[in-house]
Amino acid sequence: MDATKALDKAKDIATRIAAPAASKHDSEGSFPAETMKALGEAGLLGLHVPTELGGLGLGPRAFADVMAALAEADGSVAMVYMMHILGTSCILAAPTRDAFKDTLKDIAAGKHLTTLAFSESGSRSHFWAPVSKATRSGDGVMITAQKSWVTTAGHAQSYVVSTLSATGKGPTDSTLYLVDAKAPGVNIRGAWDGMGLRANASSPIAFETQVSDKARLTEESTGFKAMLEVVLPLFNLGQAAVGLGLSRATTNATVSHLKAAKFEHLGQSLGEALPNLRANLATMQIKCDALAAVIDDTVRHLESPGDLTMLRVLEAKALGGDTSIEVTSLGMRTCGGAAFSKHTSIDRFFRDAHAGAVMAPTGDVLREFIGKALLGIPLF
Ligand SMILES: Cc1cc2nc3c(=O)[nH]c(=O)nc-3n(C[C@H](O)[C@H](O)[C@H](O)COP(=O)(O)OP(=O)(O)OC[C@H]3O[C@@H](n4cnc5c(N)ncnc54)[C@H](O)[C@@H]3O)c2cc1C
Repeated sequence: MDATKALDKAKDIATRIAAPAASKHDSEGSFPAETMKALGEAGLLGLHVPTELGGLGLGPRAFADVMAALAEADGSVAMVYMMHILGTSCILAAPTRDAFKDTLKDIAAGKHLTTLAFSESGSRSHFWAPVSKATRSGDGVMITAQKSWVTTAGHAQSYVVSTLSATGKGPTDSTLYLVDAKAPGVNIRGAWDGMGLRANASSPIAFETQVSDKARLTEESTGFKAMLEVVLPLFNLGQAAVGLGLSRATTNATVSHLKAAKFEHLGQSLGEALPNLRANLATMQIKCDALAAVIDDTVRHLESPGDLTMLRVLEAKALGGDTSIEVTSLGMRTCGGAAFSKHTSIDRFFRDAHAGAVMAPTGDVLREFIGKALLGIPLF
């Protein structure tokens, strides 16, 4: 399947399955299992798994396009999908990748959902510095970690878990492991009840679990390198695409409302009657198109990396977070009471958009990194 077909399939699932179920999942805080099943059956869980393992073998452009299409229907679905793709990337990048062939084949066949368990309550948004530390035990290590937010908790078949290496000396000397979700000592601590992304099951998980050395996804103490080189570029690109999907969904919903809502006493629609609302709509469209252009440029950087690639990667997520908050806020204001009383779904896009700047690296941290990069100061 080529990138165009993959995007067509994603759009079909987004409009036919994800969008109609989104409000219900949002109000109930329930997991979008039917959409994830459909994405699996369509082969999209193996988006960038090589074709020889049954995957689609596609790259960052297809990822960004699929992410934006899913987010336009349901931000939670997009986030679950993104965390799965990131977890899969860690498995694909493992020096012992052949040992994970069966898992990768299951992913490509839509039978295995994975996710990242990086953030810890002890180091909060500084995911690159876990406070948990593995201890040598039997043929592997004992992982004892309090992971504070794990998207897809309880619905994934595995977790990509970071922990300081048993032999590590510095605060970023971590190692990544693939932990079976059913392993003894993997315990979800409470239900997810967030302000936004309410359907993505981002619960805390306590790990007190024995893991074999065969489940190691990186060399000892090189987890940080994988976080920066494998996870960060795709995570930031994916988050920017989520911002774009939410912004486009809001703009489309605003168009519909401005056309449909009438001032009967004036004989005009809202859009016909009020130039300030038309100006708001124009601003929303300009911001969507500017973000799309930056995403496109970031994809080109990832396809042919150069000196400015890391800067672009950092900027893309910062812009995606800012744009989606600005556009959804404008949508709320432009559609007024109809949006406030949940008649347009814009309130959901607005709440979902606020996760973008909170998820690490947060908007603040990205600015700190970008400023340091411009001044030639080391990031860490
Ligand atoms: C919906 C959702 C899903 C998530 N899913 C996952 C997941 O699947 N896996 C995972 O590992 N994590 C996940 N996370 C966790 C996320 O990536 C962050 O680690 C978490 O949101 C940080 O929470 P915090 O606000 O407590 O961090 P804090 O560190 O307490 O941040 C508080 C404030 O301080 C600011 N701040 C922190 N450090 C700096 C700095 N150095 N310079 C300037 N400002 C700073 C932040 O920007 C923020 O405004 C998820 C979070 C959310 C909201």
